[in-house]
This record gives sequence, C-alpha cells and structure tokens, in this order.
Amino acid sequence: MDKIERDFHQRDAEDQASFLEQTWCNQCQKADLGMVEPEEYELEGIITIEGKCKVCGDTVITELAPDDGEHDNWED
Ligand SMILES: [Zn+2]
Repeated sequence: MDKIERDFHQRDAEDQASFLEQTWCNQCQKADLGMVEPEEYELEGIITIEGKCKVCGDTVITELAPDDGEHDNWED
C-alpha cells in the first residue's frame, strides 16, 4: 500500500510539541529524547510521524493508535 503524505504542521501547536517530545529511540533505547524534522504520513491505515532523534540523529517513528472515536472507519 502506498504511503499517503500528511501535513504534520496542520496540527495545533500543542499537539506538535507533544509529538516532538514523546518519542522512543531504538538506537538510544530511551524514551522522550525528542525528535527533529518531523514528517507525517499514513501507511496501511496507520498514521505515522517520522523524525530524527535529537540525541543520535537516528530515525524515530511514532505510530498513532487510531482511537478517539473519530469516524475513520478503522473497523473496516
Ligand atoms: Zn537516539
């Protein structure tokens, strides 16, 4: 399935800030080191924010659980 580009910067400032702070880096094996250069996309129904670890520069990925009762047809 193709990657669907989304615009991370369309999110409100508070959301953006928390996504940039709440990260998990596989390289550092630590949470919440922060990321830079975020890019958002949807792949196979999962919204993903991908950026670079602030500490080591490795790729950091945050997947958003489809919840919040938004009508996004996740059940399909
Ligand atoms: Zn890191």
